Amino acid sequence: MKTKFVFVWVAVVCVVGLAAPAMAQDAPKQRSPVIDMHLHALPANAWPGGPSYICPGMDFAAFDPRGKWDPDHWWESCPNPLYPAASDEELLQEILAVMDRYNVVLATTSGPLEHVRRYRQAAPKRILPALNIAVANLGTPDSLRELFQKGEIAILGEIAPQVEGISPDDEVLEPYLALAEELDIPVAIHVLSAQPYSLVPQNPAALNSPLLLEKVLVRHPKLRIYVMHAGWPMLDEMIAILSIYPQVYVEVAAINWLLPRKEFHRYLRAMVEAGFGKRILFGSDASMWPQTISIGIEAIESADFLTEDQKQDIFCRNAARFLRLEHAVCAWRPKETR
Ligand SMILES: [Zn+2]
Repeated sequence: MKTKFVFVWVAVVCVVGLAAPAMAQDAPKQRSPVIDMHLHALPANAWPGGPSYICPGMDFAAFDPRGKWDPDHWWESCPNPLYPAASDEELLQEILAVMDRYNVVLATTSGPLEHVRRYRQAAPKRILPALNIAVANLGTPDSLRELFQKGEIAILGEIAPQVEGISPDDEVLEPYLALAEELDIPVAIHVLSAQPYSLVPQNPAALNSPLLLEKVLVRHPKLRIYVMHAGWPMLDEMIAILSIYPQVYVEVAAINWLLPRKEFHRYLRAMVEAGFGKRILFGSDASMWPQTISIGIEAIESADFLTEDQKQDIFCRNAARFLRLEHAVCAWRPKETR
């Protein structure tokens, strides 16, 4: 159970939204295509023990350790709480509606296999299936190979060993990473220090250093890998990895709506100004709160330090290059069928 809870939490805190629902309501009808490199297919009630709502973009509250940690008091204030959808079906329909509205043409969608299949069935052209389960449940390399070969999974990840107390460079992951390298399957790995210790004590900040990816990159030089959440807040370590390993991309899911927007912009701007604008991917980390997709998109749109060209790179073109898709996927087109 503990493992199950922890995993849900990852998928989620790969989550936590931004306070701009007012901005999210009046999106223009025609938008450039977006590729979401971090969507989750999860049940609507997938966060046992987590907060009952999330408070995008709000300051985090102080905690007196004499008391008991209450996840609903994670934030200092919550003027615009987001609540989870009421049912699995409602959640799926809400996510698809937001994808339509914001012209999300493709979404790397991870979760337990049965939920990924459900999402894929509803929108086969838009869902790129991926796997998000506990390390212990990855199965044998052979069973994973079969899933790849059958086309059930196109991406290995979100892998989040840290929330199970496992370092990204632990030997236990080696057979799976070697398989991904052999089959040329992209790997998506969680690197984010944002989970309060009281909720996930097995996930310390030290396990979420981008530098822990270095052994993996050296062992697997052909691996296509992107770092989810861009390793926030370890900016210097993330830039060090981007500098030394030019095959690495980063993705900005969750930090584009969880954090106060100024902090997200500071972090994004630093990566762009360091010269890595061609290796930043859009991601939402939407799971139980579909609005986080729109808030995350608006966090990029509102970045006045980015040119339109740089925004299009982040929204679509960088992902198309990473995934080796046709450039046409990022040419504007009206709402298409799912
Ligand atoms: Zn994550």
